[in-house]
Amino acid sequence: MRTVTTRAELEQSLAQLPRPIALVPTMGALHAGHAALIDTARRTAATVVVSIFVNPRQFANAADVARYPRTLEGDEQLAKAAGADLLFTPTVDEIYPPSETVATIEPGPLASRLEGASRPGHFAGVATVVSRLFDLVRPDEAYFGVKDAQQVRVVAWMAAQRSDRITIHRVATVRDRDDLALSSRNQMLSANGRVAAAKTIPVALSLIAEAYASGVTSVATLRTLAERVITAEPSVTLDYLDFADSASLVPLAEDAHVGDAASGEVLVSLAAVVDGVRLIDAITLP
Ligand code: AMP
Repeated sequence: MRTVTTRAELEQSLAQLPRPIALVPTMGALHAGHAALIDTARRTAATVVVSIFVNPRQFANAADVARYPRTLEGDEQLAKAAGADLLFTPTVDEIYPPSETVATIEPGPLASRLEGASRPGHFAGVATVVSRLFDLVRPDEAYFGVKDAQQVRVVAWMAAQRSDRITIHRVATVRDRDDLALSSRNQMLSANGRVAAAKTIPVALSLIAEAYASGVTSVATLRTLAERVITAEPSVTLDYLDFADSASLVPLAEDAHVGDAASGEVLVSLAAVVDGVRLIDAITLP
C-alpha cells in the first residue's frame, strides 16, 4: 500500500492501478468499522483507495476540527491490513487550493432534517468534500457506513446528480463489545461517559427493535420505551430520536405505525451528546 498526500502523486499512482476503483472516504482515526468498509470494497474492486481528510467545511467551528483525533501511523497499518491499495491523506490546501474557489455542492432534499437541522451547513460540507474526492479519485464505486444513516442517503442523492455514475454501497454498523457503535469520536469520551453512552444509545435502539419484533408498531409507544432509557441517564442529553421513512426521511407522525412508511422501511435515528461529544446511531425497521 502506498500513501500519497498531493493530487499529483494521487494522479500518478492511480494511472498504474487497475479498475474498477473503489473509494472509502474517511476522516481517519480508523477502527474496525472503517476496516469493514475497506474489506467489503476489497471483495469486488480491483483497487481500493482510502482517503483520510478531516474536512473543515463540515464542522461548525475550528476548535472541533482541531480536537478531532488524528492517528496516521495506526491508520496506515489498519488500512493496509484491511486491504487498501492506496491511502490518500491530503492537506486542506490540497483539497481546497487557496488559488481556486471550490464551489459548495448542494446536499439536496434529504439534508434538511436531523443532523442537517442540528448542524447547519454540515451536509453541504460533506457533499462538497465527497464530490471533490470523486473528482480527484474518479472511482467506479464508493463505500459508506449506515451508522451515518442520513449521510449515506445525502451522498447517494449527490452522486445521482453527477454524470459519472459512481455506485454508492452501504455497509452495516460495526459495534464494540458493549454494543456502542464504533466511532472515532468514542476516543473523546471519558471512562464514565463511555459507560453512560453504551448503556443508553444502543440499548434504546435495541429496545425499539425488540419491541417491534414482538409486535409493537406504534411510533409513540416505541419512542416512549427508548426515551425512558436515555432520560434515566443524566449525563446523556438526547438531541433527537426520530422515526422517518427510510428513503425520503419524511418523519412519521406520533400516531403512525411502522407499517405506514411509504418505502416499507423506517429509519430510527438518534443523536445524543455525552461529555460534549455528539454521538449518532441508527437502525432500520423491519
Ligand atoms: P468517518 O471517518 O467517521 O467520517 O467515517 C468514515 C466512513 O466510515 C463513513 O462512511 C462512516 O459511516 C463509516 N463508519 C464509521 N463508523 C462505522 C461503524 N461503526 N461501522 C461501519 N461503518 C462506519
